[in-house]
Amino acid sequence: MRIPIIAGNWKMNATVSEAVQLVRDMLPGMEKIDGVEKVICPPFVSLWALKDLLKNSVVKLAAQNLYYQEKGAYTGEVSPGMVRELCDYVIIGHSERRAYFGETDELVNRKVHAALKVGLNPIVCVGETLEKREQGKAEEVVAGQIKNGLAGVELGPTMVIAYEPVWAIGTGRAATPDDANRMAKLIRESIAAISAPALARDIRIQYGGSVTASNIAEFIVRKEIDGALVGGASLKAAEFVSILEQTARLKKA
Ligand code: PEP
Repeated sequence: MRIPIIAGNWKMNATVSEAVQLVRDMLPGMEKIDGVEKVICPPFVSLWALKDLLKNSVVKLAAQNLYYQEKGAYTGEVSPGMVRELCDYVIIGHSERRAYFGETDELVNRKVHAALKVGLNPIVCVGETLEKREQGKAEEVVAGQIKNGLAGVELGPTMVIAYEPVWAIGTGRAATPDDANRMAKLIRESIAAISAPALARDIRIQYGGSVTASNIAEFIVRKEIDGALVGGASLKAAEFVSILEQTARLKKA
């Protein structure tokens, strides 16, 4: 039984005071929802304030990134141990990091190892570009990202994979639910090829890419999809709560 998980990736949005206000606006609605793991991924600078705000809550925090070294002369970076004091989860390999900051599968792999070493649950993002999809290479790209990004990783059921086709992120053009489900199945098969089949069955796979309160239901009812990584819509309190509510209701059914 996989517990559904919805994570809100705020990207580089909201100052600390705006972040606190946004969580205050969401919290009453979020607290009423059971049966879904609820995760907020604000910028690093807000994590401390939000950890305090959420201290009596089941809402969890995630960082949007980390560096794989434990400490040292890496100006501007944040270590796994630093993140672990504040978060349960960490997003690794988001397509924006791959595209704008040159993150490769090898770097993703190092980060996944480093996160697991300190007890952080990675949310590992994979997904093909429009170019690769049009070349008929979506499956090959995603299977390769899984194989290389998770090489040598001791997988556990708390780990999450987010299937996020790059062309669907922030574009208002979501994947079709059928295709998202098919890609999630492929991810599970790719995981089975590098781990025990039981782990592939237990790992949670999110869909991400222009998820809103209007389309979440179509994704969440699909067998292979265990939740969503939500960008833009997670910055609107009522919409994010609606996404959580629908997920709880439809996964229970
Ligand atoms: C994301 O940031 O991971 C994302 C899926 O963004 P959006 O929901 O805005 O497409």
